[in-house]
Amino acid sequence: MTVKENLQKIEDEIIAACQRSGRDPDVVKLIAVTKYVTVERTQEAIDSGIFHIGENRVEGILEKEETITGAINWHFIGSLQSKKVKKIISKIHYLHSLDRLALAEEIQKRWSKSEPLKCFVQVNVSGEESKSGLNPKEAITFVKNLEQYPAIEVVGLMTMAPFVEDPEETRPVFKQLRLLQQDVQALALQHAPCEELSMGMSNDYIVAVEEGATFLRIGSSLVG
Ligand SMILES: *Cc1c(COP(=O)(O)O)cnc(C)c1O
Repeated sequence: MTVKENLQKIEDEIIAACQRSGRDPDVVKLIAVTKYVTVERTQEAIDSGIFHIGENRVEGILEKEETITGAINWHFIGSLQSKKVKKIISKIHYLHSLDRLALAEEIQKRWSKSEPLKCFVQVNVSGEESKSGLNPKEAITFVKNLEQYPAIEVVGLMTMAPFVEDPEETRPVFKQLRLLQQDVQALALQHAPCEELSMGMSNDYIVAVEEGATFLRIGSSLVG
């Protein structure tokens, strides 16, 4: 399948899910996760009308960023070791995996632009041991503590749902992230507008859209 064909199908599903849940489809943005595919396939995605590219490895971002052309927003979606921050900090537009103050500290040290880096605080809503992210109980305090780092703007929250046969089972996870987002928004913190929700992958993006996702991270069913 071409990326264009996959994209058409996914966009149709997003529109239908928005209609069911009374949402505006224009606020749902699609990140093509290109970690499994080549530079050529990534370029095909961009030529098909994708503006957001996501990678979970530092090497992946560097390799693709070097060769690919177009007006692209680069998203780092994997766990990021502090010592690797300096390699990619100037290449990325969004970080989806902010989960500890030591990482914020390192970003602060390396950041050189006047606008802060757009970050998602990653929350491990499901509590699976294999997943990174903060315990939901710690998330509010963590977000407050980020105020001391002017290089960081908390644009939203991010989570990964467990992989399950029936995507319907992921709904409570997405719902809980949205409730947590409301708690953060109620604080009205200047450094944490928290207007975005990064949630939904190939297996569960339809449910995620119904529950309020604004950034979907889709790999296998979009680019392969
Ligand atoms: C790989 C990955 C995705 C995309 O997964 P698919 O199931 O292929 O859509 C999304 N988010 C993160 C953090 C990932 O590592």
